[in-house]
Amino acid sequence: MLPPSPWSTDEPALLKQVDEALRAPRRLLGFEPGIERRFRNASHRERLKATQLASVLMSAFMCLFLLADHAMTPDVFTLALRLRLGFLALVALLTAVTFKWAVGRRVPEWWAVGIGLAIVGLNLYLLSRSESPLRQLQLLGSAMVILYLNVLLRPRFQLAAMATGLMVVALAWTGLTLTEAARDLRLLLPVLTAIMATASCSLYCLYQLEAEERHNYLMSLRHQLLRSRLAGVNAELDQLARLDPLTMLANRRHADEHLAQLWQRTQHDQGHLAVLMIDIDHFKAYNDRHGHPAGDACLRAVAQALKHDLRRAGDLLARYGGEEFIAVLHGVPPEEALRTAERIAQAVRDLNIPHQDSPSQRMTISVGLCSGQINGHAVSAHDWVAAADQALYDAKRSGRDRAHQAAALQGKAAA
Ligand code: GH3
Ligand code: MG
Ligand code: MG
Repeated sequence: MLPPSPWSTDEPALLKQVDEALRAPRRLLGFEPGIERRFRNASHRERLKATQLASVLMSAFMCLFLLADHAMTPDVFTLALRLRLGFLALVALLTAVTFKWAVGRRVPEWWAVGIGLAIVGLNLYLLSRSESPLRQLQLLGSAMVILYLNVLLRPRFQLAAMATGLMVVALAWTGLTLTEAARDLRLLLPVLTAIMATASCSLYCLYQLEAEERHNYLMSLRHQLLRSRLAGVNAELDQLARLDPLTMLANRRHADEHLAQLWQRTQHDQGHLAVLMIDIDHFKAYNDRHGHPAGDACLRAVAQALKHDLRRAGDLLARYGGEEFIAVLHGVPPEEALRTAERIAQAVRDLNIPHQDSPSQRMTISVGLCSGQINGHAVSAHDWVAAADQALYDAKRSGRDRAHQAAALQGKAAA
């Protein structure tokens, strides 16, 4: 009857994992699989867009190497021109064609690394084809590629570290194979030192950036989980505040709010509404004779019988106070409302709870009802309940164990 709590069952475990991850030292920049998956999914699309755009820019930027090609390896300039422009065109085309395909796949990581490796490979290929005495200086261009890859494209650290290591080894190995004289070695050493310094500094930056990104993600996930828990606790409190603990029915507070909302809706639709006030007969005498615990058990039994009978979707049954209940039936015309009232009275009779102080020798209820079409502003929900209450009083006065309809108000409302 009342809405379930929004705090889902796996969220407490996730919050625990998040707290542990926040306390843990930064081990290789990885989370537990569950959080890692969320972390990657959270930024996947944006990251893919940024990576692909940066790849095109990086390939375009690589064309500036043509100036260095012209100055230091002029013998392979025409080849460099063709390869660099061709590479740029290929990357731009791939970016345009694969974006849709790449969404939802683990693309950004290896896309960025692949572009970096391809550019360094292309540089090394051009070097291997050149006979220029200054060709070793061209290795420095690849240091720029490493820097650009690690600081701007920013793949995940582990992959970037492997790719950077591979590039540094390839550059050092190519540099050494191209070293033919001692002069070449003197030139190569500072070049390799610069490359290694660039590689280690850029990897350090990447590590810090990713650690910060991961920390921020954990904090925001924690915030989100705590907010969800708060919403869950509030919903539970609200639910408790609307529940009668003895009968586990809704309480008067919920009934009043429900009726106020339903009243407005029904007034708008000009539909039918019925309010039934239900009261156990001679209950004080029952309590006095059998004691409060027996009275409580009787209240629960009557509540169950009423609940069993008023199961239609949209029906509301609540404990209104003491040994009184209220039922609100939406879209039920007066004849049907009266039939329902008589049916629930019979359901309580059928419980056959012995009651020596009642003329019928068993537990009974009296029902007062007010029902009709809500098509004007002459009456309010409050008047409707008061009329049902008056009808209940009439049912009591005329002998109890019966249902009584509030005829006067019904005519006024339907007018
Ligand atoms: P009538 O037929 O006119 O309704 O008579 P009644 O005795 O039922 O009505 P009255 O208002 O005189 O007494 C209601 C009794 O309901 C008094 C109180 O002891 C009992 N009651 C109210 N709430 C509870 C409850 O939560 N548990 C128990 N056991 N008794 C309750
Ligand atoms: Mg009573
Ligand atoms: Mg009463």
